[in-house]
Amino acid sequence: MSATRTAPGVTSPPTRGDQRSETGGQNPLASLTAEQIEQLGREFDAIHDEVFANLGERDARYIRATIRLHRHLVLGARLVLLRSRRRSLWLLGTAALSVAKILENMEIGHNVMHGQWDWMNDPDINSRTWDWDTASPAEAWRHSHNYEHHTFTNIRGKDRDLGYEIMRIDPHQRWHPIYLLQPLYNVVLMAFFEWGVAVHDLNADAIRSGEKSKRQALAELKAIGGKARRQILKDYLAFPALSALVSGRRTFRSTIAADFTANVVRNVWAHSIIFCGHFPDQTYTFSQDEVADETRGGWYVRQLLGAANIDGGPLFHFLSGNLSFQVEHHLFPDMPSSRYTEIAPRVREVCRRYGLPYNTGPLRKQLGSVHRTIVRLAFPGGRPRPKPVAR
Ligand SMILES: [Zn+2]
Repeated sequence: MSATRTAPGVTSPPTRGDQRSETGGQNPLASLTAEQIEQLGREFDAIHDEVFANLGERDARYIRATIRLHRHLVLGARLVLLRSRRRSLWLLGTAALSVAKILENMEIGHNVMHGQWDWMNDPDINSRTWDWDTASPAEAWRHSHNYEHHTFTNIRGKDRDLGYEIMRIDPHQRWHPIYLLQPLYNVVLMAFFEWGVAVHDLNADAIRSGEKSKRQALAELKAIGGKARRQILKDYLAFPALSALVSGRRTFRSTIAADFTANVVRNVWAHSIIFCGHFPDQTYTFSQDEVADETRGGWYVRQLLGAANIDGGPLFHFLSGNLSFQVEHHLFPDMPSSRYTEIAPRVREVCRRYGLPYNTGPLRKQLGSVHRTIVRLAFPGGRPRPKPVAR
């Protein structure tokens, strides 16, 4: 089931009036009447249903070809890395393995585990059976991401992805001296992002409060241990040993270095794309009061205002798992990612008609504003950044 479909199904209309958002500037939601918000909700529902009525062979071919491409890339990279002591082959193999891991993580793993391809009824390409080559066990990730993050997007105190609990990325978060270190530990988080996400999924607060039983926490911790063991066995023992067997003992270490580098490249890339999805200056965050009576249309508007896209060409979108269409992904988390590029102009047009901003910008601008925020909010105070006006 998609997060769109399981969005808090609230029925009463939102509180009207001057909803001056605490996040700075007028919350654009306040400029719409209750009827307009509902009409907008119906328009987005119609885009969703139209695409789903039209899914078929072309889409199935796309995801199967992507999975095939990933497998060929891995195979090619592993073969080249058998001779990883040669510098040029090390570079080639490491680059290919990095791209393969990025594909597997983003365009394949994230999207398959969202249920975007469940309509195919393929027993393998399915959110209930798919697992990925990253540290987060599939089930815990599905709960923290598909459900928590996609339902409570950018609601302060409810969306645990807002700063991943260790970063102050919104001026409303209370400052603590530990945040002085966030520009530093953010660099560590970039390199080991998958492990950060896995620990984050454990939800220490829920364990402390008893909301998550010790037994479940232990089971999840064991699952992360299993993931760690698999990655160590595969990337730091089996493949290096194979290289050593083929090309001599010293290839063991050069293959370890290649695998480690590919894991770090994948983590830095995923961190950058994902942080650009919600933390650039353009995005709004919401208090729990602001969304208390949220309707379905209001839920769509919150997704629009809380997410931001990254401009780029087809290859860039492919390598970002189409999460460069974060706005479209948040409106329709269960829609096959390959369709986001098609519906983007329609979403933009709806925004224009309703006077809502369509958040987007080039990577350097989005990433620049994210890192600026991380550095600025390491220190006390800070004000919400000015928001773009609707185009
Ligand atoms: Zn998602």
